[in-house]
Amino acid sequence: MKKIAVDMDGVLANVYELYHQFHERDFGKRKLPEEIMGIPEGEAFPTIRQFIYETGFFLNVPVIEGSQEVMRKLNQQYELYIVSAATEFPKSLPEKQTWLGQHFPFISWQQMVFCGSKKVIKADIMIDDHFKNLDYFEGQTLLFTQPHNCRNNDHQHTRVDSWSAIEKLLL
Ligand SMILES: [Mg+2]
Repeated sequence: MKKIAVDMDGVLANVYELYHQFHERDFGKRKLPEEIMGIPEGEAFPTIRQFIYETGFFLNVPVIEGSQEVMRKLNQQYELYIVSAATEFPKSLPEKQTWLGQHFPFISWQQMVFCGSKKVIKADIMIDDHFKNLDYFEGQTLLFTQPHNCRNNDHQHTRVDSWSAIEKLLL
């Protein structure tokens, strides 16, 4: 069975929705899609470092559309691993594990890999929204479209805009 390493934030977890909500709370106004296109998350949302460290942030992230159904199918045909660079945000580890249990109950603890750098990860396929993770990966790389990676057309990676696109490619 082929191994797939699936990122959480920006691939399974819709962190942008929470960035918008917190930004609106702090500044009274929601950012327009064109204001955040191609801009790193920390620049698009200047107070991100404050709210991402708040207790509960990673517990309350909405699920990205279609991810549960496709992940359930992938889990039957592949060796599936959730790989999240969670140690950057120490509070996120228990929250991420709880969140996965709630939204992806078919993923066992053995399939959850919380790490620092992803350079150490070896699998056949990696699905991630950050070039910093995909660029070092030796297998097939799928870049999940998010506003921050939108303007960068890096052809080393296969861009996927949705979970249905992943389903078409891998199932
Ligand atoms: Mg990510």
